Amino acid sequence: MTVHFPFQNSYSALPDSFFARVAPTPVAAPRLIKLNRALAAQLGLDPDMLETPEGAEILAGKTVPAGADPIAMAYAGHQFGQFVPQLGDGRAILLGEVIDKDGLRRDIQLKGSGPTPFSRRGDGRAALGPVLREYIVSEAMYALGIPTTRSLAAVVTGEHVIRETALPGAVLTRVASSHIRVGTFQFFAVRRDTEAVRRLADHVISRHYPDLFRAERPYHALLGAVVARQAELVARWLLVGFVHGVMNTDNSSISGETIDYGPCAFMDAYNPAQVFSSIDEMGRYAYANQPRIALWNLTRLAECLLPLFSDEQEKAVAEAQDILGAFSETFSVAYQAGLRKKIGLFTMRDGDDALIQDLLDAMAKNQADFTLTFRKLGDAAGDPAADDARAEFMDPAAFDEWAKRWHERTALEPQTAAERQAAMHAVNPMFIPRNHRVEAVIQAAVNDDNYAPFEELVKMLAKPYEDQPEYAAYADPPLPDQRVLQTFCGT
Ligand code: AMP
Ligand code: MG
Repeated sequence: MTVHFPFQNSYSALPDSFFARVAPTPVAAPRLIKLNRALAAQLGLDPDMLETPEGAEILAGKTVPAGADPIAMAYAGHQFGQFVPQLGDGRAILLGEVIDKDGLRRDIQLKGSGPTPFSRRGDGRAALGPVLREYIVSEAMYALGIPTTRSLAAVVTGEHVIRETALPGAVLTRVASSHIRVGTFQFFAVRRDTEAVRRLADHVISRHYPDLFRAERPYHALLGAVVARQAELVARWLLVGFVHGVMNTDNSSISGETIDYGPCAFMDAYNPAQVFSSIDEMGRYAYANQPRIALWNLTRLAECLLPLFSDEQEKAVAEAQDILGAFSETFSVAYQAGLRKKIGLFTMRDGDDALIQDLLDAMAKNQADFTLTFRKLGDAAGDPAADDARAEFMDPAAFDEWAKRWHERTALEPQTAAERQAAMHAVNPMFIPRNHRVEAVIQAAVNDDNYAPFEELVKMLAKPYEDQPEYAAYADPPLPDQRVLQTFCGT
């Protein structure tokens, strides 16, 4: 028996300039530490086979499975606003694509599998900590219902990687609907290779937006579709308190999935200016800046597509601006609708936006925990005597004043208390991957080779909207001495 991957590769059939053919570098002693069995089955892979030693060798890049066509993808990107004409997969190798049980094409990529022609000065490797962080957070995002790349497996390599110290090396198997980024378009646009831009756009349309081939102007429609998906994605991030941390154009997916979990984190106390990443000194990627940055990234995408829009530059620019103009509206509609749901409103009335903003302002001023405030508000919707939410506010009176207005507003709707509570609990998670928990899990794995805390955290985060009383402690924000204020890329 061998492990069978039903590959059907399409990206590696594109012209040679799109990638470099490169095999993963074998590692010393691969050991599987986590397999996402449900995802494996969804991809048409046999979870039992992946758990054999041969499976671990494949997931570590030691053996290349039959049918794989391993490549490192070429891309460019703006990193913190600075353009780099060539980045590319420096430590990731796309094994190939499979069609999943829903008929969707999915990339299977090894991250940390050794150097590629795009590695520059990097070693092509990943350390265990960031691999576990990506596994935890990407799967948590999936369970929250937010578009994201997934994690199929994590293996330790039996080798060390040198960062500030020597750390256990690991490989993450990442699954994405594709790994095509804004930066992939930039790679060809900066080389003035319009034919390649067109080829890439056609590939993206057939893969992610097939209906658009019937549009009158498919490339315009493509930009519009990516704008819409990114606007909706960032709204979803804000609604759960997620800070991506490194929204460079090379980390901005054309499919609208959250991609590249580096220094990302969920905020505890609500703070619009929240930054976690140690390298984001200017707060470029702060929580509340994320919509603006998404639009900035989409504007870079639009620039790449201009030659496909029209030979007349001015006309093309005007058309692009028109399409980009939809971002704000799409974002606001998604964000405001999400907030209305978070406070349990079924209808729209004048004054709702102010009611919501006043809550957010009071939360910021009173350092209220973002997740728990909304969750407990749901409890209060079910039972007005349940006033736990007020304890999240430094000055509980600030909450009481707001809650009075809120109860008056919800009373104008016919839904029962139980209906409102159920609706609120369905959108306000009880559990998020709190930073201090993620750090603790990583420490146990890296320092003590103990994966029990990791397993428990992953299991708990799979049901973020359920109360799960046995895991109640995971809902708690960090104590002052447990707070993790900074995160690191770990590359
Ligand atoms: P990131 O900040 O993870 O999005 O990565 C930015 C660029 O650096 C990408 O081209 C990565 O492939 C590359 N890179 C990051 N870490 C490494 C590494 N350890 N070795 C080689 N390339 C890397
Ligand atoms: Mg990246």
